[in-house]
Amino acid sequence: MFDVAKIREDFPILKRFVNGKPLVYFDNAATSQTPQVVIDTIVDYYSNYNANIHRGVHALSQEATDKYEASRIKIQQHFNAKHSYEIIFTSGTTHAINLVAAGFSEILNPNDEIIVSALEHHSNIVPWQMLCEKTGAFLKVIPMTEAGTLDMTIYHRLLNKNTKLVFCNHVSNALGTVNPIKEIIDAAHKIGAAVLIDGAQATPHIKPDVQALDVDFYVASAHKLCGPTGVGMLYGKQAWLEKIPPYQGGGEMIETVTFQKTTYAGLPHKFEAGTPNICGGIAFGAALDYMNAVGFEQIAAYENELLKYATEELLKIEGLRIYGTAPEKTAVISFNVGAIHPYDIGTILDKLGIAVRTGQHCTQPIMDFYNIPGTVRASFSFYNTKEEIDVMITALKKAVMMLS
Ligand code: PMP
Repeated sequence: MFDVAKIREDFPILKRFVNGKPLVYFDNAATSQTPQVVIDTIVDYYSNYNANIHRGVHALSQEATDKYEASRIKIQQHFNAKHSYEIIFTSGTTHAINLVAAGFSEILNPNDEIIVSALEHHSNIVPWQMLCEKTGAFLKVIPMTEAGTLDMTIYHRLLNKNTKLVFCNHVSNALGTVNPIKEIIDAAHKIGAAVLIDGAQATPHIKPDVQALDVDFYVASAHKLCGPTGVGMLYGKQAWLEKIPPYQGGGEMIETVTFQKTTYAGLPHKFEAGTPNICGGIAFGAALDYMNAVGFEQIAAYENELLKYATEELLKIEGLRIYGTAPEKTAVISFNVGAIHPYDIGTILDKLGIAVRTGQHCTQPIMDFYNIPGTVRASFSFYNTKEEIDVMITALKKAVMMLS
């Protein structure tokens, strides 16, 4: 039995008021809230064993190193990576994508082709454009359909012997569409291309198995998974991580340094230059422990109920259009009401204590496709309730009356 009232007790922020109203937090696709156990982990680190890792003989440094490396193993187990050294700590999804893009700038040749999907976050578009400018490779796009899904017929046609890389998100943060990543990966592998999957929006809802997917790179951010900001991960198959060069030079990532020549450390340290976000890395592990204790199957089933309920209730509002109607979606709803600007709706909802996101959601090409300036986006987490959805619907009706 999924006990949402009990789960809500774990999140201190859910008790607060905004503009005199109880907070209704529906901006989970921007960042998730933090349970007490993760907050405690952060406090414990700075209160009891704050030290730099991998280089100290003293007790605090050993303790911090052990906890940081234990967290890497938790992440490895969560994503079912074969080796813990295939997990690289990064500052987030954006950093992880840029790391891989920089690595491929040494591998790609002019006229090579890379494919992105039309549903990408800007962080999975811009680094590849920069890569193309640098290498002379071409960027091709899997188009989207009116329903907010990918046109897979065109995808299969785009693949050819020049395709070296394919990038796609697992779930669209703007529309909630779950993309057919296994089909994308298998087809790319048939012609020898590598695949990077952006899991930033999928990982709060789905537990991916990187070995079963046979994906080459998978990236995610802790802050969307009940963890802190400023930390995330890159999973890479060992062979790829060994092939691509280091992203940044500095301490931690070297084996020996002389002015004649530097040799690099092995995985994962080769990609972890400088003092990392130690506390964040440890708290990332605590967040995964927390979410796994709640259970991803339960989370998905409950959020699906919220999605279904909110979709039905929203569609009762005259003139409301939901963007993204894929059969397989996570709990993200992007909508507009008539010609009302999403920002105006968001502002009124905020006055009533409801946090939604308005705008382009870092996905301008999707907004351009629908020819709209942006949407209102309500994104749910497992700590949200149907009652909160009712509060939003009532507030939305009020906003529409005021703005029509
Ligand atoms: N890709 C997707 C699908 C996202 O949802 C996000 C965050 N909203 C990102 C990439 C970027 O993540 P970050 O800002 O944590 O690097």
